[in-house]
Amino acid sequence: MSLQTLIPFLTHWADATRSDLIRYVIFSVGVWFTLWIVLATPLAGRKIRPDQPPPRQLLVEFLCSIRSIMIFSTVGLLSYSLFSAGWMPGPYLARELGPVWFWTSLVLMIIGHDAWFYWTHRLIHDRRLFRTFHRRHHRSNNPSPFTAYSFDLGEAAINALFVPLWMLIVPTQWPVVGLFVLHQIARNTLGHSGYELFPARKDGRPLLPWLTTVTHHDLHHAQAGYNYGLYFTWWDRWMGTENPTYLARFAEATRSKRRATSSLSQA
Ligand SMILES: [Zn+2]
Ligand SMILES: [Zn+2]
Repeated sequence: MSLQTLIPFLTHWADATRSDLIRYVIFSVGVWFTLWIVLATPLAGRKIRPDQPPPRQLLVEFLCSIRSIMIFSTVGLLSYSLFSAGWMPGPYLARELGPVWFWTSLVLMIIGHDAWFYWTHRLIHDRRLFRTFHRRHHRSNNPSPFTAYSFDLGEAAINALFVPLWMLIVPTQWPVVGLFVLHQIARNTLGHSGYELFPARKDGRPLLPWLTTVTHHDLHHAQAGYNYGLYFTWWDRWMGTENPTYLARFAEATRSKRRATSSLSQA
């Protein structure tokens, strides 16, 4: 392969890395600054754990996340190469299927990724794989918004591979992939933020019980072996891997807010 043929691929990689990095920095620093600095006092009652992780942990997570993004862009180049070579006609097909398919394919992609994440996550918790694939992520026992992409190389590759695999099987437009990534980064960053942001019902149960909450994933970091799901609670419930203390911990993390609301309604 001559340098001339490589140039479009290298340019694509550099552009993708730059935009992925910018998006990551905006989300992670934005969530950290908003929740941990600006809203720290009003959200104090929603803090899941009393202690903060040390600043050094946040810095290491940030650097590891930058490395993960390099992996994401490299795997992204695989999708781009398959598409450019004409081996991935999905985006063209999807365009012909119109706007209803546009939104349906986005929902399906999120549901598909949740299943991919649950099962690959359980796999890398196997003793034989854990040290190589998943130890980095679990070094953060008390997560922060920077933990979201703090992965070992192998885990970053497994996560990124979902996109080309999905696009080879299901007709998906490129803008759908863009929205999927935005949703993914938002849920992932908020899910590691250390504050329970999801609404609770009066009895302390999650208002949307089928969505994973911040407490749900926080518990996975505190006690591995439970709560492998990413966006939805389905797989953990079907497979019996939901932490038995989850609902009680969620109620605890949202209690002060509910107390404030009920005293307001009594006033
Ligand atoms: Zn894990
Ligand atoms: Zn995590």
